[in-house]
Amino acid sequence: MGKRRVKKPEDQKPEDWAYTVPDSGCPNCGKVLDRASETLREKKKPKPGDCSVCMYCCAVLVFDDNLRMRRATLRERTEGGAQLEHVVRTIEKFNRAWRRQN
Ligand SMILES: [Zn+2]
Repeated sequence: MGKRRVKKPEDQKPEDWAYTVPDSGCPNCGKVLDRASETLREKKKPKPGDCSVCMYCCAVLVFDDNLRMRRATLRERTEGGAQLEHVVRTIEKFNRAWRRQN
């Protein structure tokens, strides 16, 4: 996989693979999260209130008003429904496969 340059938010187009979001540590594992890519709705920028999933620990997170991450409440996680759980399971599967190879 080659390196891809990530543009500043104002230069990003919807077709870019990921959006730069303000650096914020995952409130669960502390890893820096500064990119977000769309999984459920094609090519949409993240907005406050959207759910996200930490690529490192699979915690369900929510973008706050400054697009920094906070833990999702139980209610928000429940509202994400089957689609959100599917994303979490997919990332967990990817992480397990990645750890086996590295
Ligand atoms: Zn995390």
